Amino acid sequence: LLTVQGLSKSFGDHQVLASVDLTVSRGQVLALIGASGSGKTTLLRCLNGLETPDGGTIDVGGDLRLDFGTTPSVRELAALRDRSAMVFQHYNLFPHKTVLQNVMEGPVVVQRRPAADVRTEALALLDRVGLAAKRDAYPFELSGGQQQRVGIVRALALRPRLLLFDEPTSALDPELVGEVLGLIKQLAEEGWTMVIVTHELQFAREVAHEVAFVDAGRVLERGAPEAVLRDPEHERTRQFLRRIL
Ligand code: ATP
Repeated sequence: LLTVQGLSKSFGDHQVLASVDLTVSRGQVLALIGASGSGKTTLLRCLNGLETPDGGTIDVGGDLRLDFGTTPSVRELAALRDRSAMVFQHYNLFPHKTVLQNVMEGPVVVQRRPAADVRTEALALLDRVGLAAKRDAYPFELSGGQQQRVGIVRALALRPRLLLFDEPTSALDPELVGEVLGLIKQLAEEGWTMVIVTHELQFAREVAHEVAFVDAGRVLERGAPEAVLRDPEHERTRQFLRRIL
């Protein structure tokens, strides 16, 4: 479903992505781990078209291939954005919009789908995550766990092919982490294709089909969670795991 080759990105003279190669097949859950500053967030943002890479290619779905060696067209970038949806560390809900308005915004305003259909779908999704009663609440009236579940519903409402999670539980109080991880686990079981940046190694072990270790803007190694987390090939991975375990 996703093939990334030689992706690079610099901010000024700071090279954040050196040359990222990555493939994710349909229905696969890939966890990205790595030290702070290694480029994980920037990689997700490039996949979602929130940042423009300096070079390399992104192929999503087999019929859309963006080559950043040249400047992609506005239409290609819009198509890239449309194929994935991001769940952010700090939820990034619109503070002055209600829960339902937050969920409907993207499908109606960006995707130009009929508001009545989107509303029906949004309410069903909110119901599914136990938040139907909160549809008219504002984000500040919700707990962090509820806000993040709205963040996930907002991503699902875009009907993406690929879900991207950027440390979805790291801003949450410990007692609220479980409700969000539980929902992500359900989505994995339903067969959603997902890339998840996470520091929750136990969660990665349970949910991810594979774990990739990102180091200095590259994917240094990747494999089954058991292999990478228990018996990594590279010394850099071992050092990282020793530090966070
Ligand atoms: P973390 O776990 O802390 O989120 P990360 O692996 O996700 O780390 P990134 O957020 O991708 O790393 O950041 C990699 C580097 O790029 C950092 O040094 C960061 O300061 C820098 N960076 C990210 N975005 C920008 C930007 N818009 N302008 C300048 N530098 C940036």
